[in-house]
Amino acid sequence: MRILLLSDIHSNLEALKACLEIAPQHDAIVNLGDIVGYGASPNEVTEQARTLGGAFIRGNHDKVVSGIESGEDFNPTAAVAALWNRGQLTAENLAWLRALPKGPAFLDGLADVAFVHGAPGDEDRYMLTASDAAQEFSAFDVNITFFGHTHIQGAFRLRDVYVNDVRPGYATDAKKESWDFQLEPGARYMINPGSIGQPRDDDWRAGFALFDSENLLVTFCRVPYDVTSAQQKILTARLPPRLATRLATGQ
Ligand code: ZN
Repeated sequence: MRILLLSDIHSNLEALKACLEIAPQHDAIVNLGDIVGYGASPNEVTEQARTLGGAFIRGNHDKVVSGIESGEDFNPTAAVAALWNRGQLTAENLAWLRALPKGPAFLDGLADVAFVHGAPGDEDRYMLTASDAAQEFSAFDVNITFFGHTHIQGAFRLRDVYVNDVRPGYATDAKKESWDFQLEPGARYMINPGSIGQPRDDDWRAGFALFDSENLLVTFCRVPYDVTSAQQKILTARLPPRLATRLATGQ
């Protein structure tokens, strides 16, 4: 099965469109959460996601924007954007976001592949380092887990007792690119397809991935998008300007 993995779209319509335009052929779509928050196109992005269908997991921003949580633990910039997103969303889109399931999720026929927002043991936990991942490997008995939340594309690989941090090796930061990562039978993985709408790995291009479960191949992708238009919408909405400037640097 070829699974298109989308994560952390964050109300960025321009980035989502660019990803969908170049997305390789796939049999299923999984969305790892944070459809909304930060960006200025919450209704358009939610409607696009609903049209795409596939399996969904809720993210922490989806919870705050839809009112499941208050956002009191959010930093002020994230909280302002979440409340603005909430105010923009139609009642129907809010209800849809509120009903998104909590991970881990699984697909039929793929019992050894899990999908989560933050970490298997806690949907709000950030897996930023190899030691964060090591803790989750020891507590979760699934070989391949796809996660989001950190907005950093790459993987943690557990081989024997060692966990490595694997990052895609792209040639540029300006063009459409992909990078193949071959999984090894016997090793275990935590894999982040990257953030579509607000990358934080010093690469401004929208990130996503494709997983070919038969060939155990993950293809990480990056694609340039109309960042100026996404920024302009954020500024026009009078959201914190930092939410616009950070898009250009991927930070
Ligand atoms: Zn996020």
